[in-house]
Formats: sequence, structure tokens, C-alpha cells
Amino acid sequence: MTNATAFSFIDSHAHLNLLPEGYESDKTLLRAMDLGLEALVNVGTDIERSRESIELARKFGNVFATVGLHPGEAHHWSDELETELDRLASSEKVVAIGETGLDFAWPEPSREIQLEALSGQIRIAVKHDLPLVIHARDAFTDLFRILKNSPLPSRPGVFHCFTGDLDAAKKALDLGFYLSFSGIITFKNAGELRDVIASVPIDRILVETDCPYLAPVPHRGKTNEPAFIPDTLSVLVEKTALPGDLVSRTILKNTKDLFKIP
Ligand SMILES: [Zn+2]
Ligand SMILES: [Zn+2]
Repeated sequence: MTNATAFSFIDSHAHLNLLPEGYESDKTLLRAMDLGLEALVNVGTDIERSRESIELARKFGNVFATVGLHPGEAHHWSDELETELDRLASSEKVVAIGETGLDFAWPEPSREIQLEALSGQIRIAVKHDLPLVIHARDAFTDLFRILKNSPLPSRPGVFHCFTGDLDAAKKALDLGFYLSFSGIITFKNAGELRDVIASVPIDRILVETDCPYLAPVPHRGKTNEPAFIPDTLSVLVEKTALPGDLVSRTILKNTKDLFKIP
């Protein structure tokens, strides 16, 4: 692995509001800004976490928010929740709907309710023409079936923390989605995933922490934070086999284009 880079980056998927005590948002942001953080997208996972994301975006100029219901929370889906998400989607600095998607790794919430919550959030995304932040786990077949048969926003969105194979990558790219890579690509046992990176055009790649989860090597096991992005970015540079400044500049531009970050 190459040394951590000094390139500018955007954390395209973070949960600053889920960091444990001792990780004040201002200090956490500053630590990352020292290493090149330009902006951060704070992702909602339920109504309360979505409100917290909007609050963080109000407080910090370089933080942007998404509002959505995580597939693991899909049992909370209701008409009232849809109305409230729809309302929150109009808030200032909301740049996407999600995270939504399908996660069939666990038996609950049921597939039916996850599909309903996903369809509802696609409707909201189309209505506001905001991209989707998609969480996908053990569910690519159903996910691609839904996405193929739904109207999508003009910038369809991103598969966050992408861990699929080459076939899933191609299908997501064909639908116009970006693929965002997390610290998982630095893990020793992620060789197959690292090989997928080489087949993804660099103008479709994003980078994220998904903090506080998934700290990259050499921080594995610790609380993840945006200051660890350079370690993930190094692996992306290595796998694309292109100059580091070109890769990082392109990833930065991709993220700004997708979320319309100035
Ligand atoms: Zn997720
Ligand atoms: Zn997440």
C-alpha cells in the first residue's frame, strides 16, 4: 500500500451523528480538513437521523445532508413517514434521498416492507429530482429489478459501500449509478473487490468512510472517521493504476457532480 496521500477529497457517505462520545463534529471535521477534506455528505438512516443530518449541514458550511430510511429500519415505513421525508427533502442542503435500498442479510425487516420503503423513496427522489443513496446487501437481483422498472431521478445516484462483483458493478453503471468504495477495499481479504475497481471507469467512482463503521487498514477495529479517507483513496489510486492527482481530482469532481456540491 502506498502512503496516505495529500489529495483533496469529499467523504461521500458519513454518519457524524453516530460517532461515539469524544468525537465532536467540529474537531472530527477539522482533523480531516487538515488532510484534504473539502466536504462531507452526512447520511440519514431514519427520520431522527435525517433531521440530525440537516442540522449538521446547517451548522457546517462544508457538510451536506441526505434524508432517508435505511432498509434495516424499513419496518418504520408508513404514509406519515413518507410525507415527512418528502417534506425534509425540500430542506436546504439536502443533496440526496437515502440511505435506502435492500439488505437481505437478516430475515427482518421482511423483504416486502423493504421493497415498499425503497419504492416510496424512489418516488420522493424522482419528485425532488435528487439522486438515491443505495445500500445493497445480498439483494442485487431484486434491487436491479426494481431500479430497472422504476422511473429514476436525472442523476440516478450511488451504490454506497459497494461490495458487489463485476456483474453487479456493470449493471449499476448501466443504470447510470456511481459506485462508492469504503475502507473495505483496504481489507486483506477483499482481493476480489479490489480487482473490480480496475474495471470501473474512474469517472464513476466515489470514496466514503461510512463512519463510524468500516475503518480502513491500518486503523481497522477503531472508530472510523473522515480523516481516514486518504488510506482508502491510496488503494483506489493503486488499483486504477493512474496518477494519484488525476484519480483524486476525478473522484472529487464525480462527487460534486452527483450531489451538486459547489
Ligand atoms: Zn449502508
Ligand atoms: Zn451508511
